[in-house]
Amino acid sequence: MSIVVENITKIYGKQKALDDISFEVKAGEIVGLLGPNGAGKSTMMKIITCFIPPTSGIVSVYGFDIFEQSLEVRKRVGYLPENNPLYTDLYVKEYLEFIAGIYKIPNIKERIKEMIAITGLEVEQNKKIGALSKGFRQRVGLAQALIHDPDVLIMDEPTSGLDPNQLIEIRNLIRQIGKEKTIMLSTHIMQEVEAICNRAIIIDKGKIVADDSTEKLSLKTSGYQTISVEFNKPVNIDLIRSINGINDVLKKSDTIFEIQSEAGDIREAVFQFAVKNDLAVLSMQQDKQGIEQVFQQLTKSDS
Ligand code: ADP
Ligand code: MG
Repeated sequence: MSIVVENITKIYGKQKALDDISFEVKAGEIVGLLGPNGAGKSTMMKIITCFIPPTSGIVSVYGFDIFEQSLEVRKRVGYLPENNPLYTDLYVKEYLEFIAGIYKIPNIKERIKEMIAITGLEVEQNKKIGALSKGFRQRVGLAQALIHDPDVLIMDEPTSGLDPNQLIEIRNLIRQIGKEKTIMLSTHIMQEVEAICNRAIIIDKGKIVADDSTEKLSLKTSGYQTISVEFNKPVNIDLIRSINGINDVLKKSDTIFEIQSEAGDIREAVFQFAVKNDLAVLSMQQDKQGIEQVFQQLTKSDS
């Protein structure tokens, strides 16, 4: 197991930022930590990266405990903090040399060249960090986080503030890096998780409210599922209503219907209905409920 988080609670003064959080991340997973502002995402990431201690609970990375063996943990973890704090007065290479020095990396020049290539910084490599666009600063942040070749990469809101083009480029870069590393990134944007991650842990007010594959989360609705179906000839809507498990039917045209069900996947039932009534199904498609709606349902304030 790459990351193991057991019963983590973090209290700041009187405020409980994390409330008994537990989860495990397998090597190679790309996990999105999703939650509204103030949910506890940054706090969780700072604990895993040994920047702050939890109030109680245990975290280990590749079997190394964050308290007892924090040096071993830091060797294996790369961290891109929220807002990517960088020394804007330093030149890109100068900054990376500084970071490489902290990690006592051998062949510094060689490694920096490699990192510049991996993160696509070639054109901007001789500039001062302060002169770079936000997208390129993010690349410097990634180079910094990856320079010691960690197994795990933790990124706190890595795409916030990027324009749409930069966003796509950084997402692609993250996906590329994710082929070789375990990744955990936080975001309050649901599409981000759908675009990059294969698993989402949704947290709200310091508690986990969902933890599943992005695929399953998209389908995990309040129980509702909608499908659109087109038959080869007109069908009486009441006949369709007689299909088992159907809640509601909307007539789009004589032959096209939108069918809503509370009973999970009803595509097979619809198909059997067609066969029984001598109809052909010209098309049938499932309207996937976005992870966005699931997120809203799970984290809507109950006040
Ligand atoms: P997120 O990253 O999901 O927006 P944070 O982990 O930053 O959430 O914060 C979780 C909660 O803990 C928030 O209510 C925040 O105000 C509080 N918090 C975070 N850091 C501190 C701190 N250093 N001192 C006091 N409260 C804090
Ligand atoms: Mg945060």
